Amino acid sequence: MQQPWLPKKWDKEADLVVVGFGGAGAAAAITASDLGAKVLMLEKAPEGEEGGNTRIAGQGYLQIYDTDKAATYLNALCGPFTLPQTLVRAWAAEVRGNNDWAKSIGGDPQEHQHQPEGIEFPELPGADCAHKFHDGPVLGYSNTWKFYEASVKKRPVEILYETPGVELIQDGITKEILGVRAENHGKSIYVKARKAVLLTCGGFENNQDMIRNYLPGLPYCYTSGTPHNTGDGINMALTVGADLWHMNNYAGPSMALKVSEFKTTFSMTPLHFGHEQPGGMIVVGPDANRFTDEKYKTRHGKIKKNGLWGPMPVPCPMHMVFDQALFDCGPLYDMKPVSGWGRIIERYDWSADNSKELKRGWIKRGDTLANLAKTIGLEPAALEASIQSWNRICENGKDPDFGRKKMLVPFGNGPYYAIELSPSMLNTQGGPRRNERAQIVRPDNSPIPRLYSAGEMGSLYSYLYQGTGNIGEAFAFGRISARNAVAETPWDSK
Ligand SMILES: Cc1cc2nc3c(=O)[nH]c(=O)nc-3n(C[C@H](O)[C@H](O)[C@H](O)COP(=O)(O)OP(=O)(O)OC[C@H]3O[C@@H](n4cnc5c(N)ncnc54)[C@H](O)[C@@H]3O)c2cc1C
Repeated sequence: MQQPWLPKKWDKEADLVVVGFGGAGAAAAITASDLGAKVLMLEKAPEGEEGGNTRIAGQGYLQIYDTDKAATYLNALCGPFTLPQTLVRAWAAEVRGNNDWAKSIGGDPQEHQHQPEGIEFPELPGADCAHKFHDGPVLGYSNTWKFYEASVKKRPVEILYETPGVELIQDGITKEILGVRAENHGKSIYVKARKAVLLTCGGFENNQDMIRNYLPGLPYCYTSGTPHNTGDGINMALTVGADLWHMNNYAGPSMALKVSEFKTTFSMTPLHFGHEQPGGMIVVGPDANRFTDEKYKTRHGKIKKNGLWGPMPVPCPMHMVFDQALFDCGPLYDMKPVSGWGRIIERYDWSADNSKELKRGWIKRGDTLANLAKTIGLEPAALEASIQSWNRICENGKDPDFGRKKMLVPFGNGPYYAIELSPSMLNTQGGPRRNERAQIVRPDNSPIPRLYSAGEMGSLYSYLYQGTGNIGEAFAFGRISARNAVAETPWDSK
């Protein structure tokens, strides 16, 4: 008799089904294929938009050489949100192999310049273990991704685009994961996984319900990465009994422009740490008051307050208010396709003099501050007071409120301008909890048989984050998950 959980027929079959073709999925597919396994990848995005956040990231990945130091650093980054030491050790041992593995498959690892500035928390023990690498001639421009994407495509790996995984098929008695139900343009496709399913389908950066439920204090937040990561893998894993972890941790927030015509955020040059422009600019919340050092280089969204690291406050809606001098400085958005979904994939052509964006209504103008305040829904007297206070700060050369040290430029005469800013993020860290073998586990720590994960969907980062850590981890756990999955005995041979 046909078991009720099995489909009438399997449409496709492989040893390993990898759900999500980003960095973690690529590492898993390459590893498994090189071990002789038949691999099928399900990818939600259309061809050309696969690759997830890995494709449009800064392209750095973490390499360490001293596993003891690295374990010390990761434990310090996690602070009170501790990890099992078996997992920390497995992470350190595998991240150590990132470059060797890259070279073994034809890669060309290059260390970033600017070490040790890349060490995110130099004050923490073990921090100097961190080395940041990328593939290809220069950092950025999808270069690391291009190498891994080409490496997958060189191998006999079947990739189904526009075919998101939607449901795991689980044996009702043994609870083993037997395959995946995917969809292609609304039609179900049943894919049998003889050995295991690997979930590598990223976080929930583009799922506003999950953001409201899981990320601390955010009514909404938009991604600068792939719009295709909507937490699907998290829901699939929950449905078969997975525990979750690190759901409240994310690489953000920053403040950026989000408009309805585009899926992802535009980062504004006046807010970049490195840019000093000769114009007046502050950011205010709904009460027209400043709330942070607008030019502070956060540690992936975290700032230190009262001795503790936490997310930068983002009282929504926020407005970047600025003067004519800044408007005249040149484009408020840098289009160079170094990183970010908007700059690499969506490719909006921002005007050199900001006039197109003024016309589109993305930038608001008022002849006086009071007029501008009315246009953007702020109390005019409060906004005027904030600008007066800012001008005094600039005269004194000291910001007693938030300690801002850059662009201490007073506002000139009108007209004045404003851009509404939204919280923006790179990526979420939460998802199903995994063990040192990359198996997804239940609340009682027992693994769900034949279900593995890698990458930011259930990342190890529970609190503070070291830049390049996500891709470094995605590669490492992609390989761990593949090796363990390939070692499984096919369920249909038992
Ligand atoms: C602008 C930016 C810069 C960054 N820079 C860096 C950096 O330099 N170094 C670093 O370490 N980290 C960086 N990060 C973070 C890093 O890019 C990600 O955390 C990491 O790439 C995640 O890899 P992944 O393979 O887990 O997920 P992703 O690379 O996001 O891949 C997930 C894949 O799954 C697919 N998918 C989603 N749902 C489904 C489904 N239901 N079925 C099938 N497929 C699905 C997606 O389309 C995507 O292809 C950056 C992020 C951003 C946005």
